[in-house]
Amino acid sequence: MVRQIKSLNIEKNKFKIPYFSILGSLVIIILFILLWRPLNFGRTVYVPLNSQAQTTVTDKSTIDVGEGRVEIAEAQSNSDNVTESSDEPEDQIAPDEIDEIIDGKDNNTVQYTISRGDTLHAILLRYNVSKKDVFLLTNKYKQLANLRIGQQISWTTDDNHNLQNLTWAISSNNIRVYEKSGDKFVETSETAENVSQENKVITGVIKSSFVADARKSGLTSNEIGIITRALQWRLDFRKLQIGDKFSVVLTREKHGDRLSKSQLLGVRFKNGTKDYYAILADDGKYYDVNGASLSQSFFRYPLAKQARVSSGFNPRRLHPVTKVVTPHNGVDFAVSRGTPVLSVGNGEVVIAKYSGSAGNYVAIRHGRQYMTTYMHLDKILVKQGQQVKQGDKIGLSGNTGRSTGPHLHFELHINNKPVNPLTASLPINEGLTGKSKKAFLAKVKQIQSQLTF
Ligand SMILES: [Zn+2]
Repeated sequence: MVRQIKSLNIEKNKFKIPYFSILGSLVIIILFILLWRPLNFGRTVYVPLNSQAQTTVTDKSTIDVGEGRVEIAEAQSNSDNVTESSDEPEDQIAPDEIDEIIDGKDNNTVQYTISRGDTLHAILLRYNVSKKDVFLLTNKYKQLANLRIGQQISWTTDDNHNLQNLTWAISSNNIRVYEKSGDKFVETSETAENVSQENKVITGVIKSSFVADARKSGLTSNEIGIITRALQWRLDFRKLQIGDKFSVVLTREKHGDRLSKSQLLGVRFKNGTKDYYAILADDGKYYDVNGASLSQSFFRYPLAKQARVSSGFNPRRLHPVTKVVTPHNGVDFAVSRGTPVLSVGNGEVVIAKYSGSAGNYVAIRHGRQYMTTYMHLDKILVKQGQQVKQGDKIGLSGNTGRSTGPHLHFELHINNKPVNPLTASLPINEGLTGKSKKAFLAKVKQIQSQLTF
């Protein structure tokens, strides 16, 4: 660019005619526009500076909203940054002890039960396992695509998230182990010979905190994680009182010395005078003693009517001007100022305040693993600490904070990590019916009698 300008100047001087200097300036201006354009508009066609970036509808997807189905036009904005410059609120909620356990952050060994829609690839990435290792493993062993609901896998990583080994329990006497050896994974099978199984009932009393007392009673971090996930919608673990009791019926499977799998068949908490149960069904999920679901459902998005997505979830979004990766941790809905914003699920309001960048914003915690945030609101209609129900009006959308047009910025966090709210797998609130309920209730009888203190 500099060299081009110089050569133009030389030409201009050589001819020494004003006409050429006018022509020269014109060439410089045109060159400037041509060179500057890609910085601002990427691959797109030149858009005049003062016009709005064009928005084109590229994809139509049908999305579940509670009972009904609503069409959302997923739009892709040419600049992908029409409405805001940043959504990072200034304060974050510090994760507590239970969060760390649920995240599996405090130990390098994670045990996981396959549920509907899971793929090994997605599970491992969610737990921050190195992408390279995930690719190495799943690319070589295609059979790992055949995980079944209810099967258990466990894996160990080093402190740099490198995968050391992964165990896949296809059935109780068919276990595959994938061990890292140099630059590849080697598969071995384990048979029933060196497998031992023990059934246990573990009980405890709350003296300080559930996590501490559960550990003292002999439960592993992984088992504590299963308990808190199963009961997260029914029981607030932070509100357990001293003297409350818990009882767990479980099976532990050992391969030699290594604990490869624990299955929690039933859990009971006595919180004051109230009893809470989680009993494992054949589908790998936990239900209460009547076969009702322990989880709650979510709306896919927080609006009553269909809305255009003006900017999608994009963890690798390049800022159009600075070219620095500035993640877009949520979805922007183009809605006019004053549109009611609804809570996508039952929960507790943990933030309801103004922040310079997010504007008026609300954060709602749902159970232990889920959090949603709603930003740039015109008006906040809830208070911190308030309990809200799914569908409650929590605010009116607006244009506050670092926002350049009315829109709602909506985020969903699972285990303290932002995920795409339009595609994330959400818990389903479905109880057992028919034959499976009958089989389950028979199981309840047998397990409930062991859940004493
Ligand atoms: Zn946004």
